[in-house]
Amino acid sequence: METKLRPDDALPVIVHVGTCSIRQGRRIPAEISAHQARIVLADRVVAAEPCPICRPEIKLGINLE
Ligand SMILES: [Zn+2]
Repeated sequence: METKLRPDDALPVIVHVGTCSIRQGRRIPAEISAHQARIVLADRVVAAEPCPICRPEIKLGINLE
């Protein structure tokens, strides 16, 4: 898994599966664990978004309602 996250970045945090090829080149990805990915995807303050291409929430079995 990876996320693209910087404290001063106004763009939403995007969580990817580690093998995702959609990097967009806009930010340097940071490696996170599957456990961390679950936390950030569930955290409404962080408001992380799953990548629409690699769908990490499906890989993690998360129901994002
Ligand atoms: Zn992705």
